[in-house]
Amino acid sequence: MTSTIDHLVSIVTTDLVSITRGRPLPSQSIEKSAATGVGWVPANLSLTPFGGIVSENPWGSSGDLRLLPDTSARYTTDLTGSPTPFDVVMGDLVELDGRPWSGCTRSLLKSAAEDLKRETGLSVIATFEQEFRLFDCGLPEAHPFSLSALRAADPFPARLFAALEQAGVSPEMVLAEYGENQFEITNGPTDAISAADRAVVIREVTREMARNLGWRASFSPKSAPDAVGNGVHIHFSFVDSAGKAVTYDATRPGGLSADAGAFCAGVLKHLPAITVLTASSVPSFYRLKPHNWSSSYTWLAQQDREASLRICPIVSIGGRDPSRQFNIEYRVADATSNPYLALTSIVRAGLEGLKERISDPPLFSGDPETLAEAEREKLGLRRLPLTLEDAVEALKADRTVTSWFDPALIESFVGVKSAEVERARSMTPEDVCSLYGKLY
Ligand code: GLU
Ligand code: MG
Repeated sequence: MTSTIDHLVSIVTTDLVSITRGRPLPSQSIEKSAATGVGWVPANLSLTPFGGIVSENPWGSSGDLRLLPDTSARYTTDLTGSPTPFDVVMGDLVELDGRPWSGCTRSLLKSAAEDLKRETGLSVIATFEQEFRLFDCGLPEAHPFSLSALRAADPFPARLFAALEQAGVSPEMVLAEYGENQFEITNGPTDAISAADRAVVIREVTREMARNLGWRASFSPKSAPDAVGNGVHIHFSFVDSAGKAVTYDATRPGGLSADAGAFCAGVLKHLPAITVLTASSVPSFYRLKPHNWSSSYTWLAQQDREASLRICPIVSIGGRDPSRQFNIEYRVADATSNPYLALTSIVRAGLEGLKERISDPPLFSGDPETLAEAEREKLGLRRLPLTLEDAVEALKADRTVTSWFDPALIESFVGVKSAEVERARSMTPEDVCSLYGKLY
């Protein structure tokens, strides 16, 4: 008997340690399963990146959920070099009666974006710019950003671009970056949920394509303690209910509209607490150091790559409209954080700023490291947490931030992160980097 199965499509969810997991169905049955989804287990949220479920978790061994496919978010390509197509549908975790589950990070982002819109009229537009490093690729040494670095990796960059385009994530560029065998993928701005979905798809397609060449693509923030970091830069801007870009105001400092300024102020106010939700692993904190072009202070700047919020440049060539390009880049993120949770944190913190109408943060240009502590304090430049352990404590200490989430989700997150802290305690930073390099 011949099978009618063409290939498998996976319904996926991305968890607190940013591992995308899921269940496969024959491609023919995906529409049929859209109404009720497939089974899922709450305790899966307490999986560490090393594999096991932490014993201190709020979910225990009981309970059941459904993973419902969002068939409007299906990403398919047959260009990864695998024998069958890469075919994923993003899923939402719901209770058995269909109510959203409080541990579903995709649903959390949806409700954060909805709350922002309901309370302020603003919709967030976002994109994740992601850096990664290739291992076991046998590529020759090459100059940073060089043509030869790009051509030596041929056909990888071109095929990756084609696969991402076919998958529907609107790639803009696959480029050779500064670090050894380091590349970066940018893609077009879109609504919050699609932006986070695309971040997941880009990572998975890149890893799959590298795997098919016998290579390994790693998005881990540091391949070695002193290596060039892999950042995830989250760009954001706003449109109003009529779709008009409302982030830019030429008359105000930095060109930030009053709303964008209050949003940024909220993000900076809560940044020490949300750092762990956007840069979530032990090696994340080897990256978040001064003079790394990553970010290490609560700092808004115009076009400075050391700032945590960087106001991006506007191009006026050919009389282009600045308002549609104007955006802000959040640089405290990396791929060990869940993209839905990371963007949820930014949106929620920004919304706090808008509700409180906090005044614009000061724009600072210079090196915070050269200032005395009192001067930094005057400028609102607070050092971000120095370790994962400190970052977890900063999260727990900010009642506003923890109030955005179900206490069980915080408990689960803290449980997993504490397990990571413990595992790394007896390891050298080099070993930590090599472990996370393989996991991400
Ligand atoms: N690799 C840097 C990081 O860790 C970013 C460099 C850039 O601005 O592209 O975030
Ligand atoms: Mg870059």
